[in-house]
Amino acid sequence: MQRIVVLAGGIGGARFLRGLKAAAPEAEITVIGNTGDDIHLFGLKICPDLDTLMYTLGGGIHEEQGWGRAGETFAVKEELAAYGMGPQWFGLGDRDIATHLVRTRMLAAGYPLSAVTEALCARWRPGVRLLPMTDDRVETHVVIDAAAADGGGSGGDGGDGEGGRRAVHFQEYWVRLRARVPAHGIVPVGAEAASPAPGVSEALAAADVILFPPSNPVVSIGTILAVPGIREAVTGSAAPVVGLSPLIGGAPVRGMADKVLAAIGVAADAASVARHYGPELLDGWLVAPQDADAVPEVEKAGIRCRAVPLLMTGQEATAAMAREALALAEEVRAA
Ligand code: GDP
Ligand code: CA
Repeated sequence: MQRIVVLAGGIGGARFLRGLKAAAPEAEITVIGNTGDDIHLFGLKICPDLDTLMYTLGGGIHEEQGWGRAGETFAVKEELAAYGMGPQWFGLGDRDIATHLVRTRMLAAGYPLSAVTEALCARWRPGVRLLPMTDDRVETHVVIDAAAADGGGSGGDGGDGEGGRRAVHFQEYWVRLRARVPAHGIVPVGAEAASPAPGVSEALAAADVILFPPSNPVVSIGTILAVPGIREAVTGSAAPVVGLSPLIGGAPVRGMADKVLAAIGVAADAASVARHYGPELLDGWLVAPQDADAVPEVEKAGIRCRAVPLLMTGQEATAAMAREALALAEEVRAA
């Protein structure tokens, strides 16, 4: 049986995985999910990317939105607002809250996040083995101008840090500020002291193929690779590593990946992201037909590259992308 390991963020990773499951129904798929987006709100532990993966693969996702539950209501959020309890910028739905309550209670009882995730997946049956990248607390922070922290208006609540800069939680930057203020740096706080969750290193070592879906290269896949041991397990694996570009024609298909790429000094185009990962990490890279002229540049960098349709417009288109990724992996293996 083919063992496929996928490093995934939320929406891009989850949608790709649906296609991969259809393309390789017999494969054993292990997903290493980003937990750098995790946040504590109202005493609840929220893991946005793990939940997006679980709901998407388990049939509970809000399809159009791409995150959160289908048929969601927001009564609790409204009641909290009536008490003047913030933050209001985070979309905490009633159905979703049940997931966070179960998770928070299990964590308080002493279960590691990996065990909690497995328990939540017993309900959702995502058809893949879903592992958090780590059981340790890692939180992505974004360095912005202190004056921009309130959304670009006056004041801000404390210009601490060098040059009037401060770090805010990734969710605050992404959801509250909508990535509209310049980001000067991305810091996966706690990553240096974290270790891979149980099963992560083992899965990478035993993999036949490792895939980077079209997930955010900085705050999804970059964060997973920042956990000491994971990058080494990917580069040290005998398996071909193939990635799919989340950028088409010099822009993210959705979201604001260009903003976080700028923060780490990488241009927002398919070839620059491939070079950022580099040939140590990547054996193969898929770009969209619009970016076909990037193929020679990527190949010159030592990464096999093909231009194929990369829009996840539906199950069949996404499955075709997954087949192309697996075919490129086979090409690498045979080379
Ligand atoms: P997040 O955690 O929810 O932000 O999701 P990911 O990190 O897994 O994926 C986000 C990335 O998916 C964005 O940079 C998008 O450009 C990319 N993306 C979304 N839809 C598509 C698509 O149809 N095709 C490609 N190639 N990328 C996509
Ligand atoms: Ca995410």
